[in-house]
Amino acid sequence: MSYFDKKTICDIDVKGKKVIVRVDFNVPLKDGAIDDDTRIVAALPTIKYLLDHGAAVILMSHLGRPKGERKPEFSLEPVAQHLSELLDMEIAFSEDCVGPAAKEAADKLQPGQVLMLENLRFYKEEEKNDPAFAKELADLADIYVNDAFGTAHRAHASTAGIAAYLPAVSGFLIEKELKGLGAAINNPKRPLVAIIGGAKVSDKIPVIENLVQKVDKLLIGGGMANTFLTAKGCDMQASLMEPDRIQWAAELLKTEAAKKILLPLDVVVAEKFAPDAAHQTVDVDKVPEGWMTMDAGPKTRALFADAVKDAATVVWNGPLGVFEMEAFAHGTNEMAQAIAASDAFSVIGGGDSVSAIKKAGLADQVGHISTGGGASLEFLEGKILPGIDALNDK
Ligand code: ADP
Ligand code: MG
Repeated sequence: MSYFDKKTICDIDVKGKKVIVRVDFNVPLKDGAIDDDTRIVAALPTIKYLLDHGAAVILMSHLGRPKGERKPEFSLEPVAQHLSELLDMEIAFSEDCVGPAAKEAADKLQPGQVLMLENLRFYKEEEKNDPAFAKELADLADIYVNDAFGTAHRAHASTAGIAAYLPAVSGFLIEKELKGLGAAINNPKRPLVAIIGGAKVSDKIPVIENLVQKVDKLLIGGGMANTFLTAKGCDMQASLMEPDRIQWAAELLKTEAAKKILLPLDVVVAEKFAPDAAHQTVDVDKVPEGWMTMDAGPKTRALFADAVKDAATVVWNGPLGVFEMEAFAHGTNEMAQAIAASDAFSVIGGGDSVSAIKKAGLADQVGHISTGGGASLEFLEGKILPGIDALNDK
């Protein structure tokens, strides 16, 4: 299956239709107020397009983890209010996402108007992908649009099940993700260089196994490099490490494809895991007794930056050090700079890597920033995302 064959809202006629849109309005809340509205803003192009083209728009989302119970602290009402300010128009709100209240509100809705439904996860049927629940959501509208990339890797009623009952297409946000991630993974311009960092090997084994087949170079850094270096015989001392993955790493390093893997040459090590810890740079086979790796050393940074300089396509997931502590953010920052400076088409995925590139002020100098942590990882694993698979082919 090619992701590019999926229909988008531009491929169908929405005039006079009721369009139910799955958005990702799972925004961070602080004391009941919206702390960061990035996800709401990201959905505006799709909502505006639908309104401009004469549709009546019904929005549905989850918020937090109410676990199938109606919990007021997870109500989407404040989100609807915020959206109303952003769009500068009234938004109707239904206190139930299904049932008579939702049906009545949807029936009343006119072209050019917006209705927001209450949190989908007040029903356990949502995450169970219950067909009757999916059908109830579908009965509110004529067309289904999925624009929630962050949940596209989940087969839930609102992300997958509903597509069985309605014409189903993607919104602009999902289209952008598929184009961005797709350009890096399917038919990329070569050389394709991937950088995988972060804390845990176990989280990213499927990503590494998939990418090592597809890339020209695979740079492994951050905490996860420790497990590989141990497999090569280095004593990483008190470094973060996964003993039960050493064997897996050793097997991988024996394969033909592993010739494409670059590991750190030197590391910044610290006496303890603290922002003000005593630290020094050492070669990877000379970590002092009881010390731990915190960052990439200068030789490693130069090796990795060189690989990025020659790339035509770059994929980056996972910081190269404990970048939350300023003293140990050099490897991550230099990687962000190398990517921003290169002419390569670059894709950044993963919550911490994205926040690192934003913190460095370089977010506007990369090709694509993926908004979905889990979903972008599963994309890099080569998996088919159920929320996208369910959409109609062109
Ligand atoms: P992403 O969210 O981009 O996918 P991860 O969540 O996998 O990235 O990893 C990010 C975490 O990895 C950060 O909190 C960072 O501090 C940690 N990390 C990176 N290098 C090391 C290291 N050498 N030792 C311990 N933690 C590390
Ligand atoms: Mg993370």
